[in-house]
Amino acid sequence: MAVLWLDDIRGDDLGAVGGKAASLGELTAADLPVPPAFVVTADTYRSFIEETGIDGELFETVDVDTDDSKALAEAAERASELIRETPIPESIREEVMAAYEEVGDDAPVAVRSSATAEDLPDASFAGQQETFLNVTGEALLERVRECWASLFTQRAIYYRQEQGFAHDVVDIAVVVQRMVDADKSGVMFTSHPSTGAGVITIEAAWGLGEAVVSGAVTPDNYVIDRETGDVRESTVARKKVMHVRDPETGETVEREVSEDRRGSRVLDEAELEELRALGEEIEAHYGEPQDVEWAIEDGEVYLLQSRPITTIAEGTEEGSVADGGLAEEEADLVVSGLGASPGQASGEARLVRKLDELDKVGDGDVIVAEMTTPDMVPAMKRAAGIVTDEGGMTSHAAIVSRELGVPAVVGAEHATDRLEDGQVITIDGEKGSVEAGAEAEDERDAIEEVRPQAPVKPMTATEVKVNVSIPDAAERAAATGADGVGLLRLEHLVLSLGKTPERYIEDHGAEEYVEQIVDGVRGVADEFYPRPVRVRTLDAPTDEFRQLEGGEDEPTEHNPMMGYRGIRRSLDRPDVFEHELEAFRRLFEMGYDNVEVMFPLVNDVDDVQAARRLMEEVGIDTEKRSWGVMIETPASALCVEEMANVGIDFASFGTNDLTQYTLAVDRNNGQVADRYDANHEAVRQLMAQTIEICREHGVATSICGQAGSDTDMVRFLVREGITSISANIDAVRDVQHEVKRVEQKLLLDSVR
Ligand code: PEP
Ligand code: MG
Repeated sequence: MAVLWLDDIRGDDLGAVGGKAASLGELTAADLPVPPAFVVTADTYRSFIEETGIDGELFETVDVDTDDSKALAEAAERASELIRETPIPESIREEVMAAYEEVGDDAPVAVRSSATAEDLPDASFAGQQETFLNVTGEALLERVRECWASLFTQRAIYYRQEQGFAHDVVDIAVVVQRMVDADKSGVMFTSHPSTGAGVITIEAAWGLGEAVVSGAVTPDNYVIDRETGDVRESTVARKKVMHVRDPETGETVEREVSEDRRGSRVLDEAELEELRALGEEIEAHYGEPQDVEWAIEDGEVYLLQSRPITTIAEGTEEGSVADGGLAEEEADLVVSGLGASPGQASGEARLVRKLDELDKVGDGDVIVAEMTTPDMVPAMKRAAGIVTDEGGMTSHAAIVSRELGVPAVVGAEHATDRLEDGQVITIDGEKGSVEAGAEAEDERDAIEEVRPQAPVKPMTATEVKVNVSIPDAAERAAATGADGVGLLRLEHLVLSLGKTPERYIEDHGAEEYVEQIVDGVRGVADEFYPRPVRVRTLDAPTDEFRQLEGGEDEPTEHNPMMGYRGIRRSLDRPDVFEHELEAFRRLFEMGYDNVEVMFPLVNDVDDVQAARRLMEEVGIDTEKRSWGVMIETPASALCVEEMANVGIDFASFGTNDLTQYTLAVDRNNGQVADRYDANHEAVRQLMAQTIEICREHGVATSICGQAGSDTDMVRFLVREGITSISANIDAVRDVQHEVKRVEQKLLLDSVR
């Protein structure tokens, strides 16, 4: 049997049909309204490669050294060609086409790949998430082969190799489902998505659901009390656009909503009641809250997908994070600083004064150091907590510990003097306190529990992204459900090589340097694919480079923050910078079309033009790729119009620097820390005018400095109309909610 109908599929058929089909089968079995679909099973793919005899050549072709990007590209190309050009055996063709006839006469169908591999941690990665909409007739067979071929893209081959999975144990199924030409659609949460409270939340917009899921439109929002069934809140949004199927081409296109329907309510009472009842049924069936995609066509409700809500915080009501069982009365404050990474932890203090002392940091110890450096990251991963004398909220220690989810207190000034090696201490990464004599449990697990564990659909029109500095944090970052990475700082990756770029290239060759960058970025780009990952070219001040091998050749600068860093250094050393750009070129060539290039510390259009020329010189098509700049100096904010005119796609506020340069407050200088204020009127004015000019020129705006995690700043920027906000991993959830609140308030204000 080449195909299985949804009626015959259950949740545990994952191995035969893949996750997507298994979940649709589960909904169908529960008698819920799912559009008719059949699955070309994983066994069918297997029969295809075996009966046609291409299996031997196929697996031989993809057995390459994935670090050799040229060989990898050739292997992917050949494997895909083999599958796409080998005719499907007659028996399979007949069965697939007969099933298609049953769906309807020339019915438009959606064709989607559904990869299976029982032990693969994320089977979806085994095959690209190929989706073809509005497929009709014989073209279906072509599309099925394209789905099969998606098992052998460069990314998929690389991913399996990295995970240690043999290529021949992964199979792929294909779901073929009747298209729903929705008049209205949206999402439904069967319980409150963060508190788990007994309310059903429904979002709805006109046309196909992609408009809601992608955030192209702000949908109506309805909140229904589950106990009484009453509609507690109805917020009717102004829905300017909708996604519809173009009757000519069959493609999904964006259209303007007619003036009279823009402000009108999408769902009436009866439809809300029907969705509510379905929501109750779905949650009862799965035994846990669900996030459901639905659509209404000609008055009929259809369910397109259901998955567990993974963002509900557990245990917060009991205060497990807040009090952590800490015996307050026994606690004795030793030092205090800035709470840089939330959570509490207890452990023995390990004073680290030199790098060779790192070995003494064992699992569950608390690192106490003047400041952390990139070499300390492996020890920071083992540690229960981190305390530093120096540093602010944007220091290395703060950034890395937040990304690792390790509680941290920074800028504690006297920690290395007052704390003793081996002394048991408890730190609070929220309050910034370090206490002696307490015996709290390491609270990292509790923190983990309250974090979203899997991507959630963006519920906001303003995108909420996440910052990543160490590629190891990518998985945690992706699990926040963020809309992409707003800032991947390349320097942490390069600094972790232990040598300055110049010395590294001298010792290991340019090729090795390029490969290191490609590998580091690729890990993050894979984790987020297809969500965008904005990678910033190198920006480390000379005092950070000085700590590395080769650092003795760094210039001595009076004030490194105002010196030889960011794009200035890159443009001054094109012979080094070209290798960084070459890494981007290769990533694009390998199919990472979600990677974007961002230049730090530009001042004006000359910097931008020069950077663009260098990209073009290495062969990057700047018309095709998304690239842009950071707005970190008042000059760049004041000159943004000229930059917009030469083709930047985005401008992102680096408020850590923009604040220090606007207010003349060194961000690393504790003496003036009380004057450091990213919400200062002057900084805000620069941002507001930049957003306005960028909007006029179709340039997207964003924030990726620390202030993007601050709710006051978020409120201000959403009101000003910023396109996206990038927050720290631990702040993403709060920022998502804050953005949502502000957007709804704006909507309400506009209709009142
Ligand atoms: C910034 O300046 O806000 C920024 C994000 O860059 P960095 O902190 O790396 O200087
Ligand atoms: Mg900066």
